[in-house]
Amino acid sequence: IVAIKRSKEVDPNQVEQFINEGMMKELRGTYASGKTKSYEWRVTQLRALLKIADHHEKEITEALRSDLNKHEHESFVYEIAMMKSSCQLALKQLKKWMKPEKVKTSLTTFPSSGEIVSEPLGVTLVISAWNYPFLLSLDPVIGAITAGNAVVLKPSEISPATSAVLSKLLGEYMDTSAVKVVEGAVPETTALLEQKWDKIFYTGNGKVGRIVLAAAAKHLTPVILELGGKSPVVVDKNINLKVAARRIIAGKWGCNSGQACVSPDYLITTKDYASQLVDALKSELEVFYGKDPLKSEDLSRIVNSNHFNRLTNLLDDDKVSGKIVHGGQRDEANLKIAPTIMLEVPGDSLVMNEEIFGPLFPILTVYKIEDSIEMINAREKPLSAYLFTNDKKLKEEFIRNVSAGGLLVNDTILHLAEHSLPFGGVGESGMGAYHGKFSFDAFSHKKAVLQRSFAGDIPARYPPYTPGKLRFL
Ligand code: NAD
Repeated sequence: IVAIKRSKEVDPNQVEQFINEGMMKELRGTYASGKTKSYEWRVTQLRALLKIADHHEKEITEALRSDLNKHEHESFVYEIAMMKSSCQLALKQLKKWMKPEKVKTSLTTFPSSGEIVSEPLGVTLVISAWNYPFLLSLDPVIGAITAGNAVVLKPSEISPATSAVLSKLLGEYMDTSAVKVVEGAVPETTALLEQKWDKIFYTGNGKVGRIVLAAAAKHLTPVILELGGKSPVVVDKNINLKVAARRIIAGKWGCNSGQACVSPDYLITTKDYASQLVDALKSELEVFYGKDPLKSEDLSRIVNSNHFNRLTNLLDDDKVSGKIVHGGQRDEANLKIAPTIMLEVPGDSLVMNEEIFGPLFPILTVYKIEDSIEMINAREKPLSAYLFTNDKKLKEEFIRNVSAGGLLVNDTILHLAEHSLPFGGVGESGMGAYHGKFSFDAFSHKKAVLQRSFAGDIPARYPPYTPGKLRFL
C-alpha cells in the first residue's frame, strides 16, 4: 500500500495500525539500507516528480479547478511551474549542495582540517495545506528528497481532488519504499503525529501548528512551521499608482481569491491618499474581473462552505457596516465572494482580528505614512509585509523596523518565487524556512567533522597539571 484513503472510507483504527506496524517499519528499513542517501536515488526521484508535472498537467489543473475553481493559468504559474522550478534547481545544484563544505580551522586544533557534512535526517513527515495543495505538498517533499530522506506526505483533506491526484501519481512514479502519501484528516494526522519522526514540516494555521509542535516535543523531533498571519501592505503617495494597484490586486485577489498565506491582508495608507488609491483599485479590478466579478472564471471560489460562512460573518459584522466601498456581493451556491474593499474599519472589528484568508480587504489610514510601522508592530509578526514607495528613507526605516517572515518593496507575493531567498515566518507566522538551498538545509543535519593527524600533540593538555604546564597554556 502506498497511499491510505481518507478517513471517511477507512476505519481510523486500521489506519493507525497500518501506520504503526507497516509503514513506519518499511520506511525505517529503507532509510537504514542507505539507498535514499545516494546522489543517484535523489536524482531519480526528482526526475520522477518532474515527469508527474509534465505528463499530468491536465489532471492536476482539473483537480485544482475542482477543489478551488482555480484558473488553469493560475494553477500552472503558482503551483506546477513553481514546483518544476524547485525540482530543476535541485537537480542542477544537488552535487554542489551535497559536497562537504571545507572550513578553516584555528590554532587551537592545529594541525587539523574541518568540514561541514550535510547528512539526511532520516524519516520525515510533510503535512500540507489546501490553498496551494499541489505546490505546498511537493515543494517540501522536494527538500526532503534532495537532502536524502525518506518522506511521508499528508496532503490536506480540504482539497480532496488534489490529495487524491497526489496519492495516485506519487504511487505510480516514486520509489514507494521511501516516499509515501497518507491521505486523511484529523484522525490520520493524529496517528501520524504519534510516530517518531526525524523532522516534521507543517504548513497551515497556528492552532494546529501548536498541536504539531507538542507532538514533536515528545520525541525531540525538529519542526518547521509554515504558518500565516495578517500580512500588511503599506502604500505611500508619489508612486506609480496604476502599477501598484495591479500588483496589489494580483497578490490579493489573483492569488486564490486571497486564500494565500502571503496575500496582503490589510492595507495602510495616508488619509489624504485613500480615496485616490481606492479608485485605482476599483478601476483595475474591473479591468481584471469585469463588472460582475462573481461571474468571472478567473476568480477562485472559497474553498468550502465553512470558510464561506466564516468570511460572510466578517462581512456582516455590524462594525464594518457602511465601511464597504467596493464589492460585498456573494454567491453562496457557488461559494464566491466578490473582491471587497472596506475603508476605515475599526480596530476591534472581526475582520481586523483574525487572518482574513479571503477576498475582503480592509484599508486603514494614518496621518503620516511612517506611523504605519508602529501599527504593524502593534500586532503579531506577519508572514509578509509589503511597502509601495519611492522614498529611500521610508524604505530603509521599513526594512529596519518591521519584523516579518519576509519583506517586499513595490510588489506583492513575488519574494516567494525567489529561490535565493529563504521563505518562512517568524513568531506567530512560523519557524524555520525553505525554498532553494534552504529546503535542502531544512531537511539536513549539518555534521561538524574535524580531522587531525597524530602530529601536534601538546603535553600541556594532559595531567598531571604541573605549574610548568599551566604557564605554557
Ligand atoms: P488545513 O485545514 O489544510 O490544515 C493544514 C493541515 O493540518 C492539514 O493537512 C490538516 O489535515 C491538518 N490538521 C488539521 N487539523 C488538525 C488537527 N487537529 N491535528 C492534526 N492535524 C490537523 O489548512 P489551514 O490551516 O486552514 O491553512 C490555512 C492557514 O495556513 C493560514 O493560516 C495560512 O496563512 C497558512 N498557510 C501558510 C503557508 C506558508 O507557507 N507559510 C502556506 C499556506 C497556508
